[in-house]
Amino acid sequence: MKIAVLPGDGIGPEIVAQAVKVLKALDIPMQLEEAPIGGAGYEAAGDPLPAATLKLAKESDAVLLGAVGDWKYDSLPRDQRPERGLLRIRKELNLFANLRPALLYPELASASTLKPEVVSGLDLMIVRELTGDIYFGQPRGISTLENGEREGINTMRYNESEIRRIGRVAFDIAMKRNKKVCSVDKANVLETTELWRQVMIELAKEYPEVELSHMYVDNAAMQLVRAPKQFDVMVTGNIFGDILSDEASMLTGSIGMLPSASLDANNKGMYEPSHGSAPDIAGKDVANPLATILSAAMMLRYTFNDEVNATRIENAVKKALAEGYRTADIHTEGCKKVKCSEMGDAVVAAL
Ligand code: NAD
Repeated sequence: MKIAVLPGDGIGPEIVAQAVKVLKALDIPMQLEEAPIGGAGYEAAGDPLPAATLKLAKESDAVLLGAVGDWKYDSLPRDQRPERGLLRIRKELNLFANLRPALLYPELASASTLKPEVVSGLDLMIVRELTGDIYFGQPRGISTLENGEREGINTMRYNESEIRRIGRVAFDIAMKRNKKVCSVDKANVLETTELWRQVMIELAKEYPEVELSHMYVDNAAMQLVRAPKQFDVMVTGNIFGDILSDEASMLTGSIGMLPSASLDANNKGMYEPSHGSAPDIAGKDVANPLATILSAAMMLRYTFNDEVNATRIENAVKKALAEGYRTADIHTEGCKKVKCSEMGDAVVAAL
């Protein structure tokens, strides 16, 4: 297991250090190598994605990333800004499948803006296609018509192989979970997503154990806040997934708890928390490291097929929460307020 560790900026180094501590505590053979990205890459090599970092990422089986970005780089030319490094590494590694679980720990039910009975026990996985759809389709642009009026154009496009490969990711994940896939489309209006639905139905024949359902995106947006626990795996295209995954993340109430994975066709992946580099709290050892620790668990599950150790980490996080450990962002009356490094220690102790 060769893992590229890219801490990045802001709270990145603090939270990644905790995830590395947890991985090492598992006592399984792995090779971890660190490299700079984002603002740290710019400082080290004048490039948010230094050539040596990209080389390491390509040679590794998986990438564990903290976060990139700091306001002090906002005046740099666009291609030297930290966020550029992130977009480039995703593209270079062909990461077409974005996995965003929304899981609510019972202990944190009061952190959600929804009623506890609606979200308590929520365990949903959104699988979003990341490299196609209206975000990339040609033609696109703003032009001026003959009558002088301006017109904006974007093109929603998917070919069947792109749909099949993201569908396969969703069905494979469902096989490791509760064997239910809900495909989200707008097949009543958009031909692109009519094809999406056809391909999903064809693919489902290869997965007789998985129950496939379909939902229009407008209904899905409503159902996510009405009764989110009806979903197991939700699969959708780039634009619908962009919106629905942000909506789903808020069901859990706390950004510091949400891991994510982006995978290529061979399950090589980049694993990172869903939040940013939080420069406002960087260097204070107060950030919540759990999203990053849970991202490391996803890495074991999806890239290394190590369900046992992935579950061990997730159970250790649950135990640390059940024992009352809370970083400042999720702290409530009566719990033990701990620092970032202490939360890492609590998870290691629970392991
Ligand atoms: P952010 O996610 O960094 O922070 C938003 C708020 O959430 C802040 O108040 C922050 O303190 C808090 N927060 C975030 N993560 C936390 C954690 N683990 N524990 C406790 N509190 C946490 O978003 P932002 O402030 O909009 O952006 C800050 C920088 O991060 C910008 O430079 C932005 O471009 C970058 N960013 C990077 C990524 C990424 O690396 N994937 C994603 C989003 C934003």
